[in-house]
Amino acid sequence: EHRQRMVRAHEPVVLADGRTVSVSANVGSLADARAAVDAGADGVGLLRTELLILDQDVFPDEDRQTADLAEILRVLGQRPTVIRVLDAGGDKPVRALDVDAVRNGFLGIRGLRYLLAHPDLLRTQLRAICRASVGHRVSVMAPMVTVAREAVAFGEAVREAVASLRRDGVEHRVPDAIGVMVEVPAAALAADELCAVVDFLSIGSNDLTSYVAAADRTEPGVADLLEPGSTAMTRILDQLCEHARRAGTPVAVCGEMAGMAEYAAELLDRGVHELSVAPARIPMIKDLVRTQRG
Ligand code: PEP
Ligand code: MG
Repeated sequence: EHRQRMVRAHEPVVLADGRTVSVSANVGSLADARAAVDAGADGVGLLRTELLILDQDVFPDEDRQTADLAEILRVLGQRPTVIRVLDAGGDKPVRALDVDAVRNGFLGIRGLRYLLAHPDLLRTQLRAICRASVGHRVSVMAPMVTVAREAVAFGEAVREAVASLRRDGVEHRVPDAIGVMVEVPAAALAADELCAVVDFLSIGSNDLTSYVAAADRTEPGVADLLEPGSTAMTRILDQLCEHARRAGTPVAVCGEMAGMAEYAAELLDRGVHELSVAPARIPMIKDLVRTQRG
């Protein structure tokens, strides 16, 4: 039975309505990438690049970042991979950067806000991603986007990084798609404005749940308020997915919610095309989706 589940986990999931959904992995290391492939991941819906850097004392240069990403992409082969640019701050202080964990915390200069304030850092990372992408299928994604103009600025940074590589004659590959995380309530509620300027959305339900409830995801005392199935979250997700459906913009979910048995199928009912979950949850989620919606 266990072995059969593992075999089935390597097959694509097709729903009764004919849609193929991707059950992908969230990864933050080379070991995670190997675990994802072993577990049958259809792709990687979230590569958390800050986790590659978190414990380093010195911020890695472009060549180092390129080599680290290339090593992970070699393991993933042709599986579509979404690489998220650095999400420093909040629960992920990056030691090698000057992100003041207290002042900046969850509501300050974190995620894309930090990168737009440090364009050299963003450019270096985007160049590394494009260089490592040669021979692979890679999309790029920005974390902690609040308003559409930030998504526009991110898209411009991607195009500038590509142009600089071209000018320098450095081998690279243009990202397959440019997307943003939806994990700030303002972004979720104005998703139509984001859809107008990006190729895809990916719902970060961990932060979205936290910001909707004004409850710190690292504070055990408020854990009972971190409820992805709350009335408020349900309404926000319904509205956001409806905006995306009307715009024809693909929506993925890469927060923990995607890997929870009680929510996975209803996310697909909202038109979500990809569930990105911890590698170990892939066989369970594929089985569940096939049983409930196959
Ligand atoms: C999220 O917020 O749901 C998410 C996937 O990003 P992270 O957990 O890395 O903040
Ligand atoms: Mg997040």
